[in-house]
Amino acid sequence: MSGPHARVAIVEDEPQIRRFVGDALRKAGCLPVETSSARDGLAAAAETQLVILDLGLPDMNGIAFIREMRRWSAQPILVLSARADERDKIEALDAGADDYLTKPFGVGELLARVRVLLRRHGPDMPPLHRFADVEVDLAGHAARRGTEELHLTQIEFRLLATMLANAGKVLTHRHLMQAVWGPGHAGQEHYLRVYVRRLRQKLERDPTRPRHILTETGVGYRFQP
Ligand code: CA
Repeated sequence: MSGPHARVAIVEDEPQIRRFVGDALRKAGCLPVETSSARDGLAAAAETQLVILDLGLPDMNGIAFIREMRRWSAQPILVLSARADERDKIEALDAGADDYLTKPFGVGELLARVRVLLRRHGPDMPPLHRFADVEVDLAGHAARRGTEELHLTQIEFRLLATMLANAGKVLTHRHLMQAVWGPGHAGQEHYLRVYVRRLRQKLERDPTRPRHILTETGVGYRFQP
């Protein structure tokens, strides 16, 4: 399997399916990290290269899990759906999942999907993001500039993580508002301006002439590493 010893988080509350997926991955040379709740799954996702996610979890809706994870991680998410309902799958893909499997599924199909996702995303997503003299550890929620620890608020960190996960892409005001503050904040883009200004002050050499957090006039922002 591409990326030998790739670490894969399994987030599935049904023990039989969790074991089935875990055994299949182990035999294929991966290192599965088995979890049975969204809470543990999000923690495990911080140190894996791929997440296999059951949409029906006891402590969090699977769609909410994907949205939460996409705030700080671009690693592939393979969704396991028990329901035949197309809408669940589409909602999961819209929220940022990469692929889905409908239960029941076979080992061959599972491993084929895993192989494709690991190959496409590379076995080693860098845990540290570096640009200029700034280093950001997304999993550890820490940021440094040179040797100096940067103190970022939760909101600042979420905003930065969203930008890092989407480096080079234009992110609309609406997308960023949704990713950082959640739904229901349309029309409050002035918050975004305030936090972008704060981030620039902390991260940019010359905040008045930003080289990393770029304004796309009338549209949103783009992070340039
Ligand atoms: Ca379930």
